[in-house]
Amino acid sequence: MSASGTAPDGGRGSNRSRRRGNSRNKQRSGTSPVTVTFLGGLGDVGRNCTVVEQSGKLLVIDFGVMFPDPAIMPGVQHVLPDMGWLNSRAADIVGLVVTHGHEDHLGGVPHFLRNIEVPLYGSALSMALAEHKVSEARLADRTSFHVIGDGERRKIGPFDIEALPITHSVPQSLCIVLHTPVGALVHTGDFKIDPSPVDGRLTDLGRLRALGDEGIALLMADSTNADRPGRSASETEIGATLRRLFGERSDRRLMVSCFASHLHRVQQICDAAISEGRVVVPVGRSMVNNVRIARQLGVLDVPEHALFGVEQLDRFNPEEVCIVCTGSQGEPGAALSQIAGGAHSDVTTGADDTVILSSHPIPGNERAVFRMVSRLARLGAEVIHDGHELVHTSGHAQRDELRELHQACRPRWFVPIEGEFHMLARHAGLAREVGMKAKRVLTLTDGAQITLKGNELQVRAGVPAPYHYVDGALDDPDTEVIAERLALTAGFVHVTVVLDSQGRLAAAPDIASRGWLDMTKHVDVVEALSGEIAQAVEQAIKGSRPSPDPDEVERIVRRATGRFVGTRTRRRPAISAAVVALA
Ligand SMILES: [Zn+2]
Repeated sequence: MSASGTAPDGGRGSNRSRRRGNSRNKQRSGTSPVTVTFLGGLGDVGRNCTVVEQSGKLLVIDFGVMFPDPAIMPGVQHVLPDMGWLNSRAADIVGLVVTHGHEDHLGGVPHFLRNIEVPLYGSALSMALAEHKVSEARLADRTSFHVIGDGERRKIGPFDIEALPITHSVPQSLCIVLHTPVGALVHTGDFKIDPSPVDGRLTDLGRLRALGDEGIALLMADSTNADRPGRSASETEIGATLRRLFGERSDRRLMVSCFASHLHRVQQICDAAISEGRVVVPVGRSMVNNVRIARQLGVLDVPEHALFGVEQLDRFNPEEVCIVCTGSQGEPGAALSQIAGGAHSDVTTGADDTVILSSHPIPGNERAVFRMVSRLARLGAEVIHDGHELVHTSGHAQRDELRELHQACRPRWFVPIEGEFHMLARHAGLAREVGMKAKRVLTLTDGAQITLKGNELQVRAGVPAPYHYVDGALDDPDTEVIAERLALTAGFVHVTVVLDSQGRLAAAPDIASRGWLDMTKHVDVVEALSGEIAQAVEQAIKGSRPSPDPDEVERIVRRATGRFVGTRTRRRPAISAAVVALA
């Protein structure tokens, strides 16, 4: 993916910058340039990564994972931003700022640190979650973690950054402001504008408005919900629904599933459970971990006496328990999927249970989620999801909230980030609706680079930003390997041909196959294929000088096999061949 475009200001920018301006955006011609490189998140939901360059130094904002589409990326565990360009600039990188504790912003940090050693910056919770991850990757001893408080301003190399509180579906999310020679750059991270967040920590719109008055050079803002009209429901509305649902089911066991990082949701589930006299039992590795970390940081307030491990579940009657578990996305290894499949070592489910999915399927996960819902229903459990009740709200700003952000910031330039291309395009449209000139709104894709100098801006296709696939320990699958895997979905046929010392066929070609057809049932087809290959090889041998070239024979074998398989079976398996020449 690459961006194309020319300087939207063209040559006229320099004329404008010579004028003595009275605009909000102060004239800044002659100042040193600032370059922003987008390495991920522009064109996809996930693998977010933005890099800002000033005075020859780089500051990285987020390094997240993207969850692969198994239909087109078989066997891939996750997808990361490419490190090629970052590695080439490794000596210039002064730090990595994490906007918030979600996997698509933080999940790739251990991979990043394996390549490049830099300090990490973020809120206390983001740093605690990062530290847990980095420790698991055994990189903690060479990494420093720096907590930035709300409203704090901090120097990182030549960068002067300010962290503003912003609401989202994980506590302590930050909006990063960079005070640069070309003016303020605002990176929202993921956000919504929640008027009544669970912790009372509001988005600092006042500060954004003040920065807007002084002149924001560039706004980069979350586009995930740019398609959705209106406003997202406040997180506290979900708590009210949960309290009502819990109250109506005082004779049943409750099992509520949500993202383990959504600690305000976990807090509200715990509050509703405890007020009904239930104990809380966290289930699932990341839920247990995050509850522990969040309680240590004071982000989660659950009294010790109300919290029990899953091994103590048997001590309580069903109506005395609320399980809070992972697996709301139907992930095969996660707690709720295991429970639904009857494969969980400690928890079974049945007609005494109400299961609440306090979540919404991430695009691509719908089938897995509803397969799990059906399994739970088959076991007799009552299942409630966000199609029935307001048991979930998005963490991303919808159109009215985005408008509010734009009206506060009034930036000189705007780049929609964090979304599939159609979401970026819708967000760009919204920016024009609120009054931005079309040429100041830049819809870019991964790899694009923009340079701000004075009041001008230049766009370049920039740097390569391919997907970096991660699968197991080797971390090497490239596009070609993925293409090969896709080719194997129709099975494969492998042919072995042995030539004797005279260069003649020593035996009938041997056919092996997986996933092409049932070879015991279709013996005739396999024999016919073997015969056809033998004929093609013999013909080639006859025409060749002293002895046939094995590479040429291999090509002939593959061609004959492909022709036969295509016409006789109308299937498209992958084909390989080996030619063994006896001395
Ligand atoms: Zn997020």
